[in-house]
Amino acid sequence: MKTIKVSVVTPDGPVYDAEVEMVSAKAKSGELGIMAGHVPMVAPLDIAAVRLKKEGGTDYIAINGGFLEVRPDVVTILAQSAERAETIDLVRARSAKERAEKRLQEKPDSIDIKRAELALKRAVNRINIAENK
Ligand code: ATP
Repeated sequence: MKTIKVSVVTPDGPVYDAEVEMVSAKAKSGELGIMAGHVPMVAPLDIAAVRLKKEGGTDYIAINGGFLEVRPDVVTILAQSAERAETIDLVRARSAKERAEKRLQEKPDSIDIKRAELALKRAVNRINIAENK
């Protein structure tokens, strides 16, 4: 099967580089499935898992918002932060979740609510990926 190169890059550096058969991602506009030969495009991504199907199995990466760019032979994901499933610190994610939930109960201020909602979404995404990898 023809493969496509995938790079996941964050401000802290590269997180993932591999040749894969298919990239599945959650764009703001809906689910994307990208294989070799896909038309070039750029799409904003949600806080969600990116699944990378390879010959020997599937890799999972927590993407915490960013952009996906498809070029003829490469998919680049630029993310605010991203972690491979096996590098996720579950204890840290669980405590981030608790912290965010507490803030949402305590703070009626709207800016803090938005921040806490996003923190909660990142934490839940990491927990789901780490638990199901
Ligand atoms: P926390 O409140 O635990 O810092 P956060 O969602 O605010 O979580 P980010 O700002 O998204 O964290 O990320 C900061 C850095 O920490 C990034 O490099 C990110 O990859 C890393 N990171 C955050 N949470 C985890 C985690 N649970 N496991 C591994 N790396 C993490």
